[in-house]
Amino acid sequence: YQLPALVNEPFTSYGPGSPERAQLGNAVEELKKKSAVNIYPNVDGQDVHAGDQAQQTSPFDHKHVLTNYHLAGADLVQRAISSALEAKKSWSKSSLHDRAAIFYRAASLLQNEYRNEMMAATMLGQGKNPYQADIDCVAESIDFLKIFPTLAEQLYKAQPPFNSPGVWNRSECRPIDGFVYAISPFNFTALAVNLVLAPIIVGNVVIWKPSPGAILSSHLFNRIMIEAGLPAGVLQFLPGDAELVTDAVFANRNLGALHFTGSTHVFRSLWKKVGDKIDFWVSYPRLIGETSGKNFHLVHKTAKVRNAALKTIRAAFEYQGQKCSACSRVYVSKSVADEFIEILDVETGKLTMGDKLTDFCGPVINSAAFERVKKAIESAKNDSKTEILAGGECDDSVGYYIRPTILKTSDPNSEFLKSEIFGPVITIYVYEDSTWGPELFQLIDETSPFALSGAVFANDRTVVIQAAEELRFSAGNFYINDQCTGAMPGHQPFGGSRASGTNDKAGSITLLQRFVSPRTIKENF
Ligand code: GLU
Repeated sequence: YQLPALVNEPFTSYGPGSPERAQLGNAVEELKKKSAVNIYPNVDGQDVHAGDQAQQTSPFDHKHVLTNYHLAGADLVQRAISSALEAKKSWSKSSLHDRAAIFYRAASLLQNEYRNEMMAATMLGQGKNPYQADIDCVAESIDFLKIFPTLAEQLYKAQPPFNSPGVWNRSECRPIDGFVYAISPFNFTALAVNLVLAPIIVGNVVIWKPSPGAILSSHLFNRIMIEAGLPAGVLQFLPGDAELVTDAVFANRNLGALHFTGSTHVFRSLWKKVGDKIDFWVSYPRLIGETSGKNFHLVHKTAKVRNAALKTIRAAFEYQGQKCSACSRVYVSKSVADEFIEILDVETGKLTMGDKLTDFCGPVINSAAFERVKKAIESAKNDSKTEILAGGECDDSVGYYIRPTILKTSDPNSEFLKSEIFGPVITIYVYEDSTWGPELFQLIDETSPFALSGAVFANDRTVVIQAAEELRFSAGNFYINDQCTGAMPGHQPFGGSRASGTNDKAGSITLLQRFVSPRTIKENF
């Protein structure tokens, strides 16, 4: 039988007066009342009560301790790897349909039983409003659960080898040798889902180190997978000190792949660690990473200016700019710059900030993020070529709040157009219309080392085609007349190249391919 085609999980509006809103409100209030939920590493489906402890606080209110989580030590990591490899013996031989059934059951659990709990955990833990939480921990996560079985089926059926008389050739999609090490970020619960499930659907086992900023939602997801029937040992949940866990994982020769989403800096350091021990590994570990970005919106003089401005606000300030795909630099034509900036300014001024279900902006994730973004804003204040058009205020008295901030620079090589800030800050550069063409494209392409997402806004078809061609290598996800965020599984496979990663595209068949090691079999008759 054939697995179903993907139908994306619809978004929920949580509109005022709706039953969904009331249920979600209750779940959030309940979680607010709880303090310091205990969370443990989970190995072979069992919580392990051992090790040092740390706390996850809510970015909305840093005095609210959400979880008290226990840290995996080196011995536990080794134990988790050994039993994962043991579990792999049967998991790698299970049928795709049996694996798919577990994924569908997990999707249903998330859709129904766990929806509000997961929403509350993602909102309070990761600083999201209901809309941002819904597109992430419900819709996109369910999409990954449903799309991976179908993609795996397509992969398994892909172009068989040729046969000749008396010979039957076949290609077997084995899982890779060893185990997969997944390191997930705080900003998307769905990314953790993508990181662990892509390897698992094709028969691998995963050692998972979740982000300290997303412990509660990660723990819930692990629980859902266990409840859905994922056999013990296939997914080992190991919250812990990043360096300690990584060093313990890298002490095992059976590392088959690193599956990572996070900063370029961390991915490079992991890559170096793997490279330094190249003689040690049983196989060449595959290194798969989605990392940072400095994503652009390019606004042409023929653009629908209001559309471009509103989409820019969404791409820059939704979830406080903490998406790898977030727009953080805008190149706008001089002929429409005044109108564009006026709309941007007025509409940004209307964005509400706080912890109510209706607030557009929440806090940034933690004090380190707050300090980093604040420092960037301070340096903009001291930069003679940069003006602050809106925002700039920072307040961490209760939560880590930073007002959506719009910078404008007259320097095309400004640091604010180059480096990732990963917060609610965009920088506008107004270009002379006469520079449209190779000069402008080169500037956009070469200013930053990243190539994750980008967008062009223009009504003139020739211009659109020219930008798409000239900026071909500047972004892995390129949008025309739309914001550069919000890729949907199955619709816009997501990822970038250069300093933005290995471009294996979350939720795609290309990604699954990285987790299979084909075997060619020739049989004579
Ligand atoms: N897939 C998300 C988007 O398209 C971004 C994921 C990320 O932050 O890595 O907006």
